[in-house]
Amino acid sequence: MISRARTSITFYNGLTTIGGPMIEVAYDKSHVLFDLGEVYRPELTLPDEKYQTLLSHHLIGDVPDFYDPLLTGKPLDHVKWKHAAAYISHLHLDHSKAINFLAPEIPLYAGKLTAQLLPVLNEHGDFLLPAAGHDISYTRPIIAANYKDPIKVGKITLEIWPSDHDAYGATGLIITTPNKKIAYTGDIRLHGYHPDWVHQFLQAAKGCDALIIEGTGVSWPEERHEPSSEEFTGPKNEIELINRIVQLEQENPKRQITFNTYPTNVERLLRIIAESPRQVVLHAPRAHLLKRSLDLDNPYYYLPKEKQFADLKSELAIPYQKLLTDDCDYFWQVDSNYDNLQRGGLYIHSNAEPLGDFDPAYGLFMQALVNNQIEFKTLRCSGHADEKELNEIIGEVQPQALIPVHTLHPELEENPFGERILPKRNETITL
Ligand SMILES: [Zn+2]
Repeated sequence: MISRARTSITFYNGLTTIGGPMIEVAYDKSHVLFDLGEVYRPELTLPDEKYQTLLSHHLIGDVPDFYDPLLTGKPLDHVKWKHAAAYISHLHLDHSKAINFLAPEIPLYAGKLTAQLLPVLNEHGDFLLPAAGHDISYTRPIIAANYKDPIKVGKITLEIWPSDHDAYGATGLIITTPNKKIAYTGDIRLHGYHPDWVHQFLQAAKGCDALIIEGTGVSWPEERHEPSSEEFTGPKNEIELINRIVQLEQENPKRQITFNTYPTNVERLLRIIAESPRQVVLHAPRAHLLKRSLDLDNPYYYLPKEKQFADLKSELAIPYQKLLTDDCDYFWQVDSNYDNLQRGGLYIHSNAEPLGDFDPAYGLFMQALVNNQIEFKTLRCSGHADEKELNEIIGEVQPQALIPVHTLHPELEENPFGERILPKRNETITL
């Protein structure tokens, strides 16, 4: 008998917001969900981050038959669905924060680095949303998938491809059903460390029936023709960013130089460690993240009276006092106590926290640097494809249907190769 099943895609969240995509692909009695993040909207100042609160503010999607019944009060429908799985593309919170809300019996897949880093980032329970019936520091099991190996979910096959974004280990997804092929970019760019990986992924996706693509880069069309002064002078890509750091060190041989980066952008930090002419020294919590998730050792320091990590080698500890008086040997990571730094020093802020003036902490942070006459230098590089790169990605895949998500302006992404679909929240499209 010929199956009458068709492939459908339902869009539960993250369509016209930056982040938080929750999308289900279904075929017959098999279905998969990706990603499991929370939309970031700190301005809402919610009373709590409970399941119902997040749902009612559209920070997560109202996805049936995937969430933990302990949260929803509804059992999973095992008659309708015989096979289920979930996937997260990378470890940014708008793609991963809700993984503990997934029903424990549903397997969750991710690339290896994402699977290794998330439990460490959440070891104090302040990264992910908590799982029902567990301690807050619990992280549900994540299956570390081998890149490109087929994962069978009933009649659906998943392939996880290495990609490039400012989250270490970011991946894209190719979904095959008996009659359709769908690609999902996750968050993507062509100006990172691995454009070659991105191109391989796009080649594998070529001619797919539907390309679900992020569109962060077209979210602010009003800025399109007025690049800020930083865009004229900022690094064009991650490689140039590292070169500028090296250059700043070389130009300032007798000066205290410190820096900070974002914790989940591990690759930038690893490149800084590899390329920096000075010895890179990390604050202990960051050194612990590298040690526990990747088994990497790096010199580190503790602030006075700080909690000690059992896994850090004592011989790699550098006394804080030694760093404070240094002006030539060390390039060290700071994330607090700016008042202790030397006057006239240089600090490099590389997409670190506080991220910008929308964060109330930013003003105080900047003031502390000004008070100490420390030169502040930003070196940023975006994790997202800009408009030109998005067009290049679409041109490489040439999809039958283009489905932009994860952007304030999905209508600004166009498909010269076929139709473009702009789904509404909770809409199902049948391919
Ligand atoms: Zn991201």
